[in-house]
Amino acid sequence: MESMTFVLFGATGDLAKRKIFPALYNLYVDQKLPQSISIIGLGRGELSHSEFQEKVKDSILDFSRRLEHDAANMGEFLDYFRYSSLDVNSEEDFQQLLQLVKKREDELDLTQNRMFYLSVAPEFFDTIALNIKNSGLGQTNGWKRLIIEKPFGHDLKSARELNKKLSRAFLEEEIYRIDHYLGKPMVQNLEALAFANPILQSVWNKDHIANVQITAGETVGVEKRAGYYDQAGAIRDMVQNHMLQILMMTAMDKPEKINAAGIRHEKRKVIESLRPLKEEDVPYNIVRGQYISGELNGQKVPGYLKEPGVNPSSTTDTFVAARLWIDHPSWTGVPFYIRTGKRMKEKSTRIVIEFKNKENEQYKNNQIDPNLLIIEINPNENISLQLNSKNPLNNGKVTPIRINFSNEQIGLGVPEAYERLIYDAVNGDSTFFAHWKEVELSWEWVQPILNAFEGNFVPLHEYQSGSYGPAASDSLLLENGFKWWLDE
Ligand code: NAD
Repeated sequence: MESMTFVLFGATGDLAKRKIFPALYNLYVDQKLPQSISIIGLGRGELSHSEFQEKVKDSILDFSRRLEHDAANMGEFLDYFRYSSLDVNSEEDFQQLLQLVKKREDELDLTQNRMFYLSVAPEFFDTIALNIKNSGLGQTNGWKRLIIEKPFGHDLKSARELNKKLSRAFLEEEIYRIDHYLGKPMVQNLEALAFANPILQSVWNKDHIANVQITAGETVGVEKRAGYYDQAGAIRDMVQNHMLQILMMTAMDKPEKINAAGIRHEKRKVIESLRPLKEEDVPYNIVRGQYISGELNGQKVPGYLKEPGVNPSSTTDTFVAARLWIDHPSWTGVPFYIRTGKRMKEKSTRIVIEFKNKENEQYKNNQIDPNLLIIEINPNENISLQLNSKNPLNNGKVTPIRINFSNEQIGLGVPEAYERLIYDAVNGDSTFFAHWKEVELSWEWVQPILNAFEGNFVPLHEYQSGSYGPAASDSLLLENGFKWWLDE
């Protein structure tokens, strides 16, 4: 693997501590990092190199999935790290950073491959990119790449502006937009599931699929993130990015070649074919909800408006359900439903594919459930198939059974999303990053919903904490003769 420099903006932040350092460490233990690497952490505060290395070590001890951290290895790993304090607006600080990057490149005899990871507040993204360019940090003999965290814009206009600014300093193929759902093993597995299994591939279309249901439920409330979340809501926090990415991965046709270009091409076709919503159609296809108090796991929890930091008259959506149509020959007439919410009954991200259930004369006195393919993404990874089978304990009545395919033996060995994504970016593989066109088209689809929410044309349904969301979300499916599967 080529030698490189990894520059981390926001190295004293929460994400660096919980995800990025542990990911780098696990890659190091798995020998998936270049043997020669310089890692430079940047934050606003002053820290010595060794104080910073201690922080990195603490984060690994607290958050790494691996338990082995023998002292010698840890020492070698920590020695990759240096720290520099930096204010994003200070040209002088960027010059100091450039000197440190070069010094380490000389000391370690590194190729000038430079990765810049922006784990800072989004309002700094464009300034940092521009300063990377202006300071000379972006002029290298090797490659340069930019990894950027979410959120990518607040609406269509701001996303376009941000992209325009970034593109002054980086080419599209140099930009790796993180959507950590794309780093999840089961989301990455969708392509293999649909295309490496002829029995599934032959039924992965409108002729056999009745509807597709994508759920991302959280049991937590807004936690300490009200400052961000009350401005964003579920529509920006989850739907525009993660939910639409999962939808693209589920609905894409088989690519000519299974590589970054092939997969992105097919994903693009899905998002391009999403039937646009007019503002006046939004109330009929989108359900907006906000949680009120309730009980979760035996504990009373407050409603959204009583959460610390939330505007007490906020109309922010903590739940969104939507019905989408893909105007593409593979999916004509098949509704895709998505829903996501906080304070829901269970923490679960899953896809349920309901197959068409043709009337069967032989079983007219025995109601037959449809076949379901259930893909659990989080917190468990599992695939199961619901079939119908004669039940000897029930007079031979035909009842549904579930066949599970889990990969339990892999267990702790599975790399986390951030490990996979950092590894891919280091190797120049952009398959599981969001391309600008996907981001732009997602914002285009979402924008009328943002407008309708803002203009209050859409009812704001209350739902009890610990439920599956407002009843209106069930009605959305009932209108087409369906129901959300697996709600208990
Ligand atoms: P944080 O507030 O914990 O850390 C922010 C970092 O930015 C710190 O290192 C701080 O020193 C640095 N910083 C602040 N002002 C600066 C300035 N003027 N100049 C230079 N550096 C400055 O934030 P976080 O939670 O680590 O989030 C980082 C990014 O990751 C954000 O874009 C966030 O949206 C995204 N993100 C975070 C999470 C998460 O779970 N924390 C999840 C997904 C995405």
